[in-house]
Amino acid sequence: MENCKFCKIFQEKKIDLENELAVAFWDANPVSKGHLLVITKRHVKDFFETTKEERNAMFELIDKAKKIIDEKDKPTGYNIGINCGISAGQTIMHIHIHLIPRYDGDTENPRGGVRGVIPDKRDYEDK
Ligand code: AMP
Ligand code: ZN
Repeated sequence: MENCKFCKIFQEKKIDLENELAVAFWDANPVSKGHLLVITKRHVKDFFETTKEERNAMFELIDKAKKIIDEKDKPTGYNIGINCGISAGQTIMHIHIHLIPRYDGDTENPRGGVRGVIPDKRDYEDK
């Protein structure tokens, strides 16, 4: 699709991993060392517009990337996240899965992880 930053990255082959339906590349503004994005080759807006085959292809690259990042950077955990829609923080309207390696001590209190999409709801008392 014209004017789509991620279609352009795919068309210009500025990618690090690839399979039949998906590609992956390093995030330009990494949250942590090894932050990677996985996208579909087809321009679709968000996760809910992808096919089962595209979902499988994207998660196959997530698995492959994890092995590479494990060897290279030795993270101690991962967050996997998909922002769907402007309200959820999506800025580029081409499905992308964030694979974010985590390292012991990279934040003072990691409890709650992806719950931090609403920062004051991240940590919580278990009921
Ligand atoms: P989101 O807020 O989920 O839409 O995330 C967009 C992500 O794309 C951010 O983490 C950006 O750092 C990343 N990004 C934007 N432009 C590029 C680019 N040219 N190459 C790689 N990553 C990019
Ligand atoms: Zn696109």
